[in-house]
Amino acid sequence: MLSTKDSKTLNLDVIEAQVKLLLEEIGEDPDREGLLKTPHRVAKAYDFLTRGYREDIKKVINGAVFEEKYDEMVIVKDVDFFSLCEHHLLPFFGKIHIAYIPNGKIVGLSKIPRIVEVFARRLQVQERMTQEIADTLDEYLQPKGVGVVSEARHMCMMMRGVEKQNSVATASAMHGLFKEDARTRSEFLNLISVNRY
Ligand SMILES: [Zn+2]
Repeated sequence: MLSTKDSKTLNLDVIEAQVKLLLEEIGEDPDREGLLKTPHRVAKAYDFLTRGYREDIKKVINGAVFEEKYDEMVIVKDVDFFSLCEHHLLPFFGKIHIAYIPNGKIVGLSKIPRIVEVFARRLQVQERMTQEIADTLDEYLQPKGVGVVSEARHMCMMMRGVEKQNSVATASAMHGLFKEDARTRSEFLNLISVNRY
């Protein structure tokens, strides 16, 4: 089972005080005009960027799972996401492609990007985020198979000049038929045009 942290609102005052300390420590004057409102803005930004911790995946999916005989592959590709790497608190962002083969249940298509949001708006590593999205579809739909592929650029690599600045990291999670059946998997990968495998 996936755990979701208890819903609570962030204490913005605490974050503001910490950001002020950070500004001082890097050699800035937090009282100069341009920075006066920065701690507040940063606190609000972190509230938004980490809101996945305060969302309940059950409530997101609730009421949008339908009985349906359709049993062909369902694909939602090019879902944009923005996340923060848990190692540096720097953004990584890109696209996620999601597919599943129903086994009597489907989920409303508009819920797929919402599910991505719940997991992307947390501190993450790309591999875990990809897996969590696949696990969620498995748990709520019990489909014949699930495939999730994410492609991302990591600012912690690009901005710090680590290795290739334009490299795209790819992670995938394949369950059921997507793992067991090479034809299903290659149909999915062809449809999303990921040819790096
Ligand atoms: Zn990082």
